[in-house]
Amino acid sequence: AKAAGRNTYHFFQPAFAEQARQRLELELALRDAIERQELSLHYQTKVCARDQAAQGFEALLRWNRPRIGFVPPDSFVPVAEDCGLIGQIGAWVLSEACRQIARWEAAGHGWQKVAINVSARQLIHDDLVGMIREECRRHRISPSLLEVEVTESCIMSNPEQTTPILAALQAMGVRIAIDDFGTGHSSLAYLRRLPVDIIKIDKSFVREAMSDKPTAAIVKTIIGLSKTLEKQVVAEGVETAEQVDMLARQGCDSLQGYFFSRPLPAADIEHQWHAGPSA
Ligand code: C2E
Ligand code: CA
Ligand code: CA
Ligand code: CA
Repeated sequence: AKAAGRNTYHFFQPAFAEQARQRLELELALRDAIERQELSLHYQTKVCARDQAAQGFEALLRWNRPRIGFVPPDSFVPVAEDCGLIGQIGAWVLSEACRQIARWEAAGHGWQKVAINVSARQLIHDDLVGMIREECRRHRISPSLLEVEVTESCIMSNPEQTTPILAALQAMGVRIAIDDFGTGHSSLAYLRRLPVDIIKIDKSFVREAMSDKPTAAIVKTIIGLSKTLEKQVVAEGVETAEQVDMLARQGCDSLQGYFFSRPLPAADIEHQWHAGPSA
């Protein structure tokens, strides 16, 4: 057993050290990313399930690393959360989204709502209410054009702390969405009292609902529950016409996914508007 342990040690240590080195490198590069203007937002359209008209956008963070290219947020947002950079990055995301809303409003597309993703750290440790009030004032936009997406697991990790913050944002006119719904553990009793306007069905359910009966039943239940609680329900990760049909038939309010559009740079969104509705 001892020999095996030693072998394991020799076998794994270089890989582990390499992983730690890469992670440190990522962290150091991320520290400069804002200043070097390597971060950007891409926007993914949300459409009405009934007529497929655009209702607004979700802003998704992109990091274009020099000599490496685009790094997916799933690989750097968790690092930013661990090393305390998420506050700075989140503040940039908020400011950039508000700037974009103001630009679109000035260009005559003022009805466009933009949703930003907020992580647990930001919600609990930053003065999100004050920051949003200040950014909306600075860019002269109504907070009602802003949505905040928070994951179900973030809200439920500490509901006594998160609930009053969400309620304060709601009172200001910001709409609140529970992201990745179905993957966390909120009790139905809690959900009834949560200050949220929108429930986003996680894309894993949307993907499996077409081939798996129990998953289809879960999707149906979430939609029914949202109606009962008078919340808007959105499905994410919609990729096929079959999914569109199924979700619309079951009364889902809004849809989002590659079937309609990939997340795009703001310039590409504007280009589509100028090209007309057929583009
Ligand atoms: P999320 O908030 O659940 O975002 C949805 C993810 O699904 C996005 O991945 C989006 O590009 C992708 N997606 C959209 N439509 C489809 C589809 O039809 N099929 C499939 N398979 N995927 C689709 P992305 O952009 O890589 O972002 C991943 C995660 O990173 C987000 O998950 C969110 O948790 C986090 N994230 C992104 N931007 C931010 C941000 O500004 N702040 C924070 N804190 N987290 C962010
Ligand atoms: Ca989201
Ligand atoms: Ca999601
Ligand atoms: Ca997610």
